[in-house]
Amino acid sequence: MDKALASGACDVSSILAGGANIKYDLNDMSTPDSNIDGVFAKNLFSAKDFSGELKKTLPGKIYRLLRKVGHIADDNNVRVYLAGGFVRDLISGGRNFDMDIVAEGDAITFAPVLARQLKATLQLYPRFKTATLKLQDDLRIDLASARTEYYAHAGALPEVRLSSLRDDLCRRDFTINTLAVSLNKKFFGKLVDFFNGQKDIKDKKIKVLHDLSFIEDPTRIFRAVRLEQRLGFRIDKHTKSLLKAAVDLKMFDRLSKGRIADELKLLLSEPSPAKVIRRMEQLHKLKFLHSRIKYNRRMKNYLVSAQKILHWHKTNLPQYPIQGWLVYLLAITDELKFRAAGEFYAGLGLKRSECRCLMSCKRYGKEAIASLQKVKLSCPSKIYKILKPLSEEAVLFLAVKYGERNLREFFMKFLKKYAKIKLRITGDDIKKLNLRPGPEFRNILEYILWAKIDGQVKSKKDELALAGKYISRLRN
Ligand code: ATP
Repeated sequence: MDKALASGACDVSSILAGGANIKYDLNDMSTPDSNIDGVFAKNLFSAKDFSGELKKTLPGKIYRLLRKVGHIADDNNVRVYLAGGFVRDLISGGRNFDMDIVAEGDAITFAPVLARQLKATLQLYPRFKTATLKLQDDLRIDLASARTEYYAHAGALPEVRLSSLRDDLCRRDFTINTLAVSLNKKFFGKLVDFFNGQKDIKDKKIKVLHDLSFIEDPTRIFRAVRLEQRLGFRIDKHTKSLLKAAVDLKMFDRLSKGRIADELKLLLSEPSPAKVIRRMEQLHKLKFLHSRIKYNRRMKNYLVSAQKILHWHKTNLPQYPIQGWLVYLLAITDELKFRAAGEFYAGLGLKRSECRCLMSCKRYGKEAIASLQKVKLSCPSKIYKILKPLSEEAVLFLAVKYGERNLREFFMKFLKKYAKIKLRITGDDIKKLNLRPGPEFRNILEYILWAKIDGQVKSKKDELALAGKYISRLRN
C-alpha cells in the first residue's frame, strides 16, 4: 500500500462510528492550481506515450472524437483525461467504448460547451459534478470533474469536492482503474500511471489502493468480484483478506437496500452471473442476500441454464428486449415462498413493475406448470391463456426450471409466437358494429385473439366477421 495514501486516513473504528472524513495527504498534488504547469506537467512529459496504441487500437471515429475533445478542452483551458474502465480495457485488450473522461476543473461548466461542439445531448448531475453526453452511433461520454470524495459515514454516498487528477485517481476502487490518458493536444496520449495499474493489468490482479477501501465503500466488494469474473483476473491475496475482513465487520449492513439492489442488478447483468454468484459464495456465502437464500447445486444449475435461455431469447427475439437480470433473480430466490419473496423484493426497493414481474412467477408459476401438463402442443390458445398472466421473464424462468419436462417447447412457442400475435381490429371497430362500449368489448377482443392464435382468423376482414358473429350471438 502507498504510504502517502494512508497518511491522514482514519482508523477503522472511527469510520465505523460515522462522521469520519477520509482525506489522503497528497503533498504537492493537493490542489488543482499547484500542478497546472509545475510538477504535473513534468510528470506528463516523462509519462509513457500511448498515442500510437490509441491510434492503432481504437476505431477511427473514436480516435478522432478523442482528439476533438482534447482540442475543445484546449480552447477552454481545461485539462482532460480518459480514465477508468476505458483505459483498463484498452490495455488488457478488451473493448469498452463508454468513455469516462475526467476534467481538471468544473465539468459542469465545460460539459455544455463540449456537448454543443460535439452535437451531443447532455444530462447534467450537479450534485456529483458529472455529466453524460450521448453522441451519434450510441457513443457516450461520462464527464466528471476531478474530485476528492468524502464519506460522511461508512457505506454512505460520497460528498464531492473539486480537486486534481491525482486526487481523483486515488479515490478509485482498484489499481487497474487508476490509469489515465491525457487528451490535451500538447500531451495527447500520455499515460498517467501513479499506482502501478499497468503492472496489475499485466499480472491480472485486482488490488485496492488502501486497506480501508472496502470499509469506506462496501459496494467495492461487489465491484471486485464482478471485475474479477468478467476480466478473468484474480483478487490479490491481501485485497482478498481485506474484503473478507470487511464482510466479517458486517459492512453489507451499512449499505442501504437501494444500493444493494443497484449492485445486485449490476452483478446479475454481467455476462456470466453464474460465475459471479459462485465466487461470492466462496468469498462470503452471499451474506448480502436473504438468510434463507443458500447457494446449492440447484441454484448453480438454474443460473447456468438461465444464461443459455437468455442467449436464446436475445438471438431469436432481439426486437423484444427483456430484463434478463430478473430471470437470474428468480433463479436465486426460487427457494423463497410467495410472502417471503414479496417482502424480500419490496425490501430491496425494486420498482413496482419489477416486483410485479417477479411476483407473477410466484403467484401463477406452479399452477401454470400443472395446467400445461394437461394440454397439447396443438392447442395454442390454451397455452396462451395459461401463460399470459406471467411476465416474459417469469416464463423464461419457468423454462429454466421445468425445461427438462418436455415443457420447453410450450414456453418457446408462447414467447416466440403466441404472445406476439396482435389483432388488427380495435375497440373502435367494435363500436362501428353498433355495440355500446362496456366490459363486453374486452371479451370480444380476447375471443378473437384466441381464434387468431389458433389460426382460425387471418385478415382484418376475418376478425371483423368473427366480431359480428359474436355480437349477434350476444343479441339473440
Ligand atoms: P464497467 O465496464 O463495469 O462500466 P468501469 O470500471 O468503467 O467498468 P464504472 O462503474 O463505469 O466502471 O465506473 C467508472 C470508474 O469509476 C471505474 O473505473 C472506477 O475507477 C471508478 N469507480 C466506480 N465505482 C467506484 C467505487 N465504488 N469506488 C471507487 N471508484 C469507483
